[in-house]
Amino acid sequence: MDFIIQKSLKLVESGLVPDQAIRAAIRALSKKRLIQEGRYDPEQGAQRYMDVLNIVKIAEQCPEVSFWLPTREKGLINQYVRSFGDFPSNLTVRVSAAMVDSAAPAGFLNTSTVHKDRDAQGYECPAQKQGNKCQDCRACWSRDVHNVSYHQH
Ligand code: SF4
Repeated sequence: MDFIIQKSLKLVESGLVPDQAIRAAIRALSKKRLIQEGRYDPEQGAQRYMDVLNIVKIAEQCPEVSFWLPTREKGLINQYVRSFGDFPSNLTVRVSAAMVDSAAPAGFLNTSTVHKDRDAQGYECPAQKQGNKCQDCRACWSRDVHNVSYHQH
């Protein structure tokens, strides 16, 4: 989630987030990340769920921006879907497999895996062949790409 918070902070600084409460929420999340050095406290499930809700609010406030949320928080994502239904159409939530060469998590529209000794599943991330950069690839942001498979570095 740190990736999306960094992106959100850029939006705040550029003045593209008009709602004061959302701006404050983004800054609070950023501060929390700095304190935690990018780690989530497993005891703070409620706070992490609030993070998801805040990310949804940011996406709703910025419909012209495409967001990609890579996460292993299967439980929180299921909790959100049970409570609110689908995520905003400009927010692609991609649930990551827990282990290298394991199957994509079941029951999610968008997932990601990491391959090393097995073939890529679904769409193979081309970054490794293009200087470890996305260049013009936007597969991770696309809901039409069910699973993205990253090669283990
Ligand atoms: S957008 Fe494309 S190149 Fe970038 S990480 Fe995703 S699959 Fe790889």
